[in-house]
Amino acid sequence: MLKLPPLSLYIHIPWCVQKCPYCDFNSHVLKGELPHQEYVDHLLADLDADRPLAGDRKISTIFIGGGTPSLLSPKALQALLSGVCSRICVVDNAEVSIEANPVTMESDRFSSYQYAGVNRISIGIQSFNTDKLICLGRLYNEQEAKYSANLVSKLNLRSFNFDVMHGLPKQSLEEALSDLRQAIALDPPHLSWYQLTIEPYTLFGSLSPVLPNDDTLWDIFECGHQLLLDAGYQQYEISAYAKLNHQCQHNLNYWRFGDYIGIGCGAHGKLTFRNGCILRTTKTKHPYGFMQGKYRDKQYDVEFADRPFEFFMNRFRLLEAVPRIDFISYTGLKEDVIRQQLDTALIKGYLNETSECWQITQKGRLFLNTLLELFILN
Ligand code: SF4
Repeated sequence: MLKLPPLSLYIHIPWCVQKCPYCDFNSHVLKGELPHQEYVDHLLADLDADRPLAGDRKISTIFIGGGTPSLLSPKALQALLSGVCSRICVVDNAEVSIEANPVTMESDRFSSYQYAGVNRISIGIQSFNTDKLICLGRLYNEQEAKYSANLVSKLNLRSFNFDVMHGLPKQSLEEALSDLRQAIALDPPHLSWYQLTIEPYTLFGSLSPVLPNDDTLWDIFECGHQLLLDAGYQQYEISAYAKLNHQCQHNLNYWRFGDYIGIGCGAHGKLTFRNGCILRTTKTKHPYGFMQGKYRDKQYDVEFADRPFEFFMNRFRLLEAVPRIDFISYTGLKEDVIRQQLDTALIKGYLNETSECWQITQKGRLFLNTLLELFILN
C-alpha cells in the first residue's frame, strides 16, 4: 500500500504577448483579447473532471504558471480561485503563487490578486541589462524590470521570487554578477538563478547564439553562488536559493515526488493511490483543442520499473538528504530493487548513505545525469 504524499494544484495559463526566442514552454502568442472568463470556465470544468482522482485529499499549494498568468484579469483570477475553493478543499494558509511578467505589472492588478488569495508572486525578471533583455526578446527595459521588482517587494506578500538568468549570449562574468547584485539589493526572499539552456525547436535552437565558454560559465556559477550565500540565501535545489523559511513549497512538493493535479493547456498531473497505482495525466496542449472541452489528452500508470528513476530524478535535484523510508512509501518498492545501483553510486562517490537517508555529494551533483541513469531499470 502506498503512502499518499501532499497534493498540490498547478494551473496553466498558456498565452504570452510574444514568444521569447529561448522558450520551449507551452506558450502561445496572444492574438486579440484573452478569453478571460471562458478560459476560467474551462479550467474549472477540467478540475471537475479530475476532482474524483483526489478523493477527500486537500490541496496544500496552488501555483498559477504559464505562459504569462499575469495577463489574466483580476476578476477572472478571483473567479478562478473561488471556483477552485468551492470544488476542492484547500488547506488554511496554503501557499498560492502566480508567475508575473514585468510587462504586466501594475500595482492595482497585484493588490487585486492578493485580495483574491495570491500570497506569493514570482517575477520573471531574467536580467536588468536592457541589451540582454532585447536579446532575450523581453518586452521591457532595465527601468521597468526594476520598477516591477520594487513594486512586488512593497506588496507585503508572504514571499516573492525573482527569476534571473545567467550564461546569456555574449554575457561576461561582470555582467552576470551585476544582474545578480541588483536582484539581491532588492532583497527577494527567494531567487531562482538559472543558466540559459538552448532548447531544440526554439529560435535560439536554430540561431545558435554565442554563449559564454565553459570557463566563464563556471566562474559565473562559483562567484554568483558565493554572492548568494554571502547575502544570506541557502541553495536548496540546483537553481533555487531562499532565505530561511522561504523555500517554494509548491516546487518542493514536486521535487519530493509529491502529487499534483494539473489543469489547463498542457498541464501535467501525478496522483498516487493507496492501491499501489501512480497515475500521470497530461492535458491537451493547444488552447484551441482544450477550449473545445477535450481536457485530458493522455494518462498512464507509472510502471514499477520506471519508479526509481522518476523518484530520484526529482529528489536528487534537492540538496537535502532523501529519507530512505520515502522511497519505499512513495514508490511501493523495496530497497532491494535498487541495492545494486545504490552500491555503484556509493562506490563512485555520488552518494553517502546512513541508516536513515541518502545524501547526494558534490560529485553526485556534478555527474547528476550519470547518477540518474543508474536508476533506469528498463
Ligand atoms: S514570457 Fe515566459 S512563457 Fe512566455 S514566451 Fe517568454 S519565457 Fe516563454
